[in-house]
Amino acid sequence: MARVLLTGAAGFLGSHLCDRLLAERHQLTGIDNLSTGSLENLSHLESHPDFRFVTHDVRDPIDLGTFDIVMNFACPASPPTYQLDPVGTARTCFQGTLNSLEVARRDGARFMQASTSEVYGDPTVHPQPETYRGTVNPIGPRACYDEGKRVGETLCFDYHRQYGLEMKVIRIFNTYGPRMNPDDGRVVSNFVVQALLGHDITIFGEGEQTRSFCFVDDLVDGIMRMLNSQSGFTGPVNLGNPEEFTIRELAEIVIEMTGSQSRIVYRPLPTDDPRQRRPTIDMAQQELKWSPSVRLREGLSRTIEYFDNVLSRRSAA
Ligand code: UDP
Repeated sequence: MARVLLTGAAGFLGSHLCDRLLAERHQLTGIDNLSTGSLENLSHLESHPDFRFVTHDVRDPIDLGTFDIVMNFACPASPPTYQLDPVGTARTCFQGTLNSLEVARRDGARFMQASTSEVYGDPTVHPQPETYRGTVNPIGPRACYDEGKRVGETLCFDYHRQYGLEMKVIRIFNTYGPRMNPDDGRVVSNFVVQALLGHDITIFGEGEQTRSFCFVDDLVDGIMRMLNSQSGFTGPVNLGNPEEFTIRELAEIVIEMTGSQSRIVYRPLPTDDPRQRRPTIDMAQQELKWSPSVRLREGLSRTIEYFDNVLSRRSAA
């Protein structure tokens, strides 16, 4: 049983991690500024004896007790959302990581950083191994997040080298599942919600760009394996599902699975949208004995069921 601080606890990934950490009997403090996260994601934990939630912005210094483990998952992650306040996003990545690292340094805690496949930018190497250094456009509209996450990794490695901090960096590829925010503009949530409502399905560009979608339960399993891995293993390690789909394929699968009458419409491709993305997961397989097991259709069916419930509650209200 460890005392764990989790930033971004009310978010999509954060809330699933709360469940898992509590199931493993840790004593958990979750913080979130609720800018993109939602207390609804945590409502079932309200009276859990080992859980404490504090509304707190990770950009402000954190002084909430002593911890054995610090996990930094606080940041808006959807492109339209993180671009609403790009300066704020860059600060969350930099100042938020710095503040979280300071807690770990002060307490001698183990640190985990949620990094991202976005550090590879619009990749020229495919699939992407951890050794690939990426092609991020430092002055584009995605840079607040991409460069922010890159400097987050830099801070982790510098704290490790300079202060001997024990830390682990994971690079998370596209993840989906229940508790995604239906309005945050991600492709899976957009397509499923559009299909369920019979609205047009909006493909950006030609739909030839690819992504590899990991179901949230698989990802959480990989995160926990990384957290519990031997102390010298820092990563960065890719965590994602290597099954790759074009965005048009995803749209067609969602339409078929929901039995929707929605039409596909094409909208302009956002600036710097990566054309292809698929993780190499050899490192995770070897070091963590991890690989994802939920196929896209299986994960989508659980996600469709979730959004169906959310939309029914909304229309009842
Ligand atoms: N996308 C799309 N329609 C949408 C939302 C997203 O075609 O309604 C595309 C987007 O341009 C990108 C891919 O789907 O190529 C994945 O987008 P998302 O925002 O989920 O995540 P990203 O991987 O770009 O961070």
